[in-house]
Amino acid sequence: MIYQVIVDISNQEVDRVFDYGAAFEVPVGSRVLVPFGRQKKEGFVIGIKEDSSYEVRDIERILDAVPPILPEMLELARYLKRQNIRYIDSLRLFIPAKLRGGKVRILNKYLLSLADGVDAEEVRKKLRKGADMQAAVLDALKNGAKYESELSNALSASAIRTLASKGFIKRELVEVGRMPVSLPAKQKEITLTDEQRAAVDAVLNGQEGVYLIHGVTGSGKTEVYMTVIERMLAEGKTAIMLVPEISLTPQMLGVFRLRFGDKVGVLHSGLSDGERYDEWRRLRMGEARVALGARSAVFAPVQNLGAIIIDEEHDASYVSEGNPRYFTADIAQFRIRHNKAKLIMGSATPSLESYLKACRGEYHLITLCNRVNKREMPVIETVDMRRELRAGNTSIFSRELLSSLEKTLSAGNQAMVFLNRRGFASFVRCRSCGYVARCRDCEVSLTFHKDDNTLKCHYCGKQYKMIDKCPVCGFENLKEGRTGTEKVVEELQRIFPKARILRMDNDTTKTKDACYNILSSFGEGKADILVGTQMIAKGHDFSNVTLVGILDADLALYYSDYRSNERTFQLITQVAGRAGREQKSGRVIMQTTNPNHYVFRYASRYDYKGFFEKESNVRETTKFPPYTRIVRLLVLSKKDECAITAARKLYETLSALKTETYKKEIIRVQAMRAPIKRICSNFRFQVVVWVSLGSEELLMPEIYKAASEATARDVTVFTEINPQQML
Ligand code: ADP
Ligand code: ZN
Repeated sequence: MIYQVIVDISNQEVDRVFDYGAAFEVPVGSRVLVPFGRQKKEGFVIGIKEDSSYEVRDIERILDAVPPILPEMLELARYLKRQNIRYIDSLRLFIPAKLRGGKVRILNKYLLSLADGVDAEEVRKKLRKGADMQAAVLDALKNGAKYESELSNALSASAIRTLASKGFIKRELVEVGRMPVSLPAKQKEITLTDEQRAAVDAVLNGQEGVYLIHGVTGSGKTEVYMTVIERMLAEGKTAIMLVPEISLTPQMLGVFRLRFGDKVGVLHSGLSDGERYDEWRRLRMGEARVALGARSAVFAPVQNLGAIIIDEEHDASYVSEGNPRYFTADIAQFRIRHNKAKLIMGSATPSLESYLKACRGEYHLITLCNRVNKREMPVIETVDMRRELRAGNTSIFSRELLSSLEKTLSAGNQAMVFLNRRGFASFVRCRSCGYVARCRDCEVSLTFHKDDNTLKCHYCGKQYKMIDKCPVCGFENLKEGRTGTEKVVEELQRIFPKARILRMDNDTTKTKDACYNILSSFGEGKADILVGTQMIAKGHDFSNVTLVGILDADLALYYSDYRSNERTFQLITQVAGRAGREQKSGRVIMQTTNPNHYVFRYASRYDYKGFFEKESNVRETTKFPPYTRIVRLLVLSKKDECAITAARKLYETLSALKTETYKKEIIRVQAMRAPIKRICSNFRFQVVVWVSLGSEELLMPEIYKAASEATARDVTVFTEINPQQML
C-alpha cells in the first residue's frame, strides 16, 4: 500500500504529493511523521494507491489517535485545489494551529474562589482602609470562581496573594476546559410566530439545497435557525451556524448555550489557540454537534451534517481576504452537496447576488415581513447636514440628534451612535501647505491615535511618532482630519457630562474578551451611549436602545468600489435595526450631505426590493457583478520593474485570449497600478478581467494558468474573484 502524503513545509513552492510506504496501516486523513530529506516532517495522508513510480520511504508514525481530517474535507481540499488553492493551505484551514508542530498540551491554570464558608461582605468590612484591590478581588469572586491569571491582570496579584495567605480565598490547579466566554442570555418562553413557523416548515419539508431567508431586522431569524438545528440534532445530524466577525459570537453563544448546552462548539479567530483546539476536538469527537463561529467555522470537523446556516449572509467578512482566499458560501455549498443537507442564508439585506439567485429560482426564497410581536420598524429620519452648516452648526452632531439624545438620556433609555469605520478617522494635515502624513512603505495617509499619541499605518501597522510641526513648511498648527470614534466620545462627553459612554472599535477590542466586556456592560445598562464603528451595526439585541444616530451615512459611498451603494444600504438598515427591538419603539437619525441619493430614499423606507431593482439595473448596464464576474490579478513585487513586467505580460496574455478565442466570454481587460501603489514595500499592480456569467468554468483555468506563468521568484500574483475592496 502506498500513502499519498502532503508534507507540511511552510515555504514550499510546489504543492506536491509525496508517496510513502508504512509498516502498519494508516487511515486516510491521518497526520503523520515522515522522513523528508535528512529531516523529519509532519504530513497528512490524503490518499492511498497501489504502487508508486519511485522507491518510497516509510511513514514513521501516526501522530493522533483519531485522524484529524475527515474524508469529506479531503474531497473539499481537492475541490479547492481546482480553484488554485494549495493542498497544504486547505489542510491548515481545517485543523487548529495547535495541532500542527506538536504544540498540543493540556492547559492547567489556577482557579480562584472564595474559601468555604467565607462571606465576602464580612471579610470586606474587616479590610483595612485603602485595601481597595483586595476588596475588588472579593467582589469579583462573589459572582463565581475566576482564573488567577485573568484576575491578577485585571486587578492585582499581590492582593490575591494576601487574601490567599489569610485563607479567605482558595487556589486550585485545574485542567482548563478552555471554555470561551458567552454573554448571559435571558431565558424566554417563545412560541414561533406564523411567519417563523412557515419558514421552519419550508426548510424542513423542502428539498436539499439553498434557502435564502429575507427577514427584516427583529423578525426572529435566530429562533428559526435554532428550531431547524434542534430538528437536525434530533435526527442525529449536526449543524454549523456562522455569524459575521468575532464581535457577535459571545452573544450568539449565550443564546445557543441556553438552548443546546455543551453540544455547542465554538470556532473563531478570537479564541486562544488552546480554546480553539479544545473546541475543535470536541466537535471532531462528536461531543459537540453544533459548530458556532465566524467564517472559518465552515470547516468545522463535524460529520453527518444536516444544515449550515449563514447569518447576515451579505456580510463582507464571509470572504476571506487573506491567503488562501475563499468564499464561505461556496465552501458551505460544497459541504451541503456532499451531505445532502441544507444551506440557510439569512439577512435583512441580502447581497444582490444572493437575492438575484433567489429571484431566478436557484435558491428557495423565504420572506419574513414583520418583526416578532408586530413591533414597528423604527422611523428613520434623514437630516441634511448641509442645512445644519448653513444654519451655523459646524459640529458633527445635528441639532436634531442632540435633542433626541437629551430626551433619550433623561427618559433613562439607551442610545447607539454609529460612525463609519476607523479607516476614515483622523489623518494629520498641514493647514498651511496641505502636507499629509503618509506611511513610508504604503503611501497611504497615517491615522492619528490619541491614546498613545502616535501615527499608525492601517495597512502595514507601522507606527510613527506624532509630529507637532509640518516637516515640509514648518507650520506649527497641524490639524487632524476627519472625526474618529474617540473624538465623538470626547465631544459627547463634553455635551452630556453625566452620560456614561462606551466605545467599541478596533482599538478598544484588541484584547481577548474585550468585545464581550463592552457589550455585556452596555447590555446590563452600565452605560447610556455606545459609540462605535461597523462592529456595533450587526445583530446585537439590546432591549433598551431607543435611539440610533448615524453620524455620516455618506462615507461608505466614497469607497472606490462598485458595491458602495449596496454596502451603504446594508449598513443603514443594519444600524437602524438596533433600535426599538423590544417594547419600546425606536428612532433613527441619519445624517447625510446627500439626502437625495436613492440609497437614502430606499433605506429610510426599508424598501429592499425597490433598492434591489434600481441597483440591479445599474449593475447590469455597467456590467458589474452579479451580472458579470470580476477577476483581479494582483501583482506584487519588491522591485517596481519586475511588477511592471509581470503585469504587462499578464495583460498581454489575457488580451490575446480575448481577441483570439474568447471574444464574448471576456468582456474587457484592464491593467494599472493598484489604488494603493505600495504596501509593506511591495509595489502593486492589478490586471482586472471582466468575465461574462456562465463562462467561468471555461475561463478560470486559463486565468489561473496565466497567473502562475506570470509568477516568478520575486513576483507574486494573487487571484481575487469579485474582490470586496479594491485597494
Ligand atoms: P433578527 O435576527 O431577525 O434580527 P432576532 O433573532 O435577533 O431577530 O430576534 C429578535 C428578538 O425577538 C430576540 O430577542 C428574540 O429572542 C425575540 N423573539 C424571536 N422570536 C420570538 C417569538 N416568536 N416570540 C417572542 N419573541 C421572539
Ligand atoms: Zn504602512
